[in-house]
Amino acid sequence: MDYQKILNEIDAELKQTPNSGQVASYIPELSTVDPNKFGIHLITTKNQHHGLGDSNERFSIQSIAKALSLTLAFSLEKDQLWHRVGVEPSGTAFNSLVQLEVEKGIPRNPLINAGALVISDVLVSRLSDPKKEFLEFVRSLAGNPAIDYGSKVSASERVTGYRNAALVNLMKAFGNINNDIEEVLDFYFHLCSVEMTCQELAQTFLYLASNGINPLTQKAVISSSKSKRINAILLLCGFYDEAGEFAFKVGLPGKSGVGGGIVAIHPNQFSIATWSPKLNSKGNSFKGMKVLELLTTKTESSIF
Ligand code: GLN
Repeated sequence: MDYQKILNEIDAELKQTPNSGQVASYIPELSTVDPNKFGIHLITTKNQHHGLGDSNERFSIQSIAKALSLTLAFSLEKDQLWHRVGVEPSGTAFNSLVQLEVEKGIPRNPLINAGALVISDVLVSRLSDPKKEFLEFVRSLAGNPAIDYGSKVSASERVTGYRNAALVNLMKAFGNINNDIEEVLDFYFHLCSVEMTCQELAQTFLYLASNGINPLTQKAVISSSKSKRINAILLLCGFYDEAGEFAFKVGLPGKSGVGGGIVAIHPNQFSIATWSPKLNSKGNSFKGMKVLELLTTKTESSIF
């Protein structure tokens, strides 16, 4: 498969269509990004790299990090985790409070904000220095010790994170948060602020295309059974109330973030990251969704 040719074709096609949407502004620091940035990077499980555009520029990965915190928490907590968070699609916005009251503080899945806050609570309990150890975990997956938190973005989100504060307080009231809520929020805002390039993101997620093995070290990040389960959660829940649309049009497990990044995985074939900051009304990158739809259409292959 000539992926580079296909990526170049996609790029040329999308230059002919308007790039709709809005850059996220509810976290003020995110709105300072150039809305026209655009990058793609694909890495095959045979370590072939294909990229274009701004694929070597770092951006705020935001909710994409939730797949990584889930991986770490699942490997530590094992199936005990599912007593505190579900694996069902939410069908609601990423920051919604609606289901949480009715479902007694148990979030539908680990990829909506409520679920990621429970995962953060698990990691705050399990790790002796959560921010340092999470960053080390991400750096080891990316094979790059320079990856770091974006302190301006995490501070900006801390000031405006009213909904996340509401979610964590509600879950604390239901007994599903064990630690101090400020500590959980601080860890959550930091993990969302991690900055990576498309190339680093594609590298970081290659373990989910490789049955849980980090191809850089040949060591298991997570068991192959858990890797399959994380991919299942990404497919069903990675795009919030647009997960059905993504499965329908793209057909790959993936995860988006409000920084405009998307990661998608084709098990045993490749991982791909895209970056375009303008978001559609569901909070997913408008152009990134189009890239991935064109990719699986042109290659005539998805997990289905
Ligand atoms: N940090 C963001 C928030 O909590 C992450 C949201 C996202 O990327 N969908 O609102």
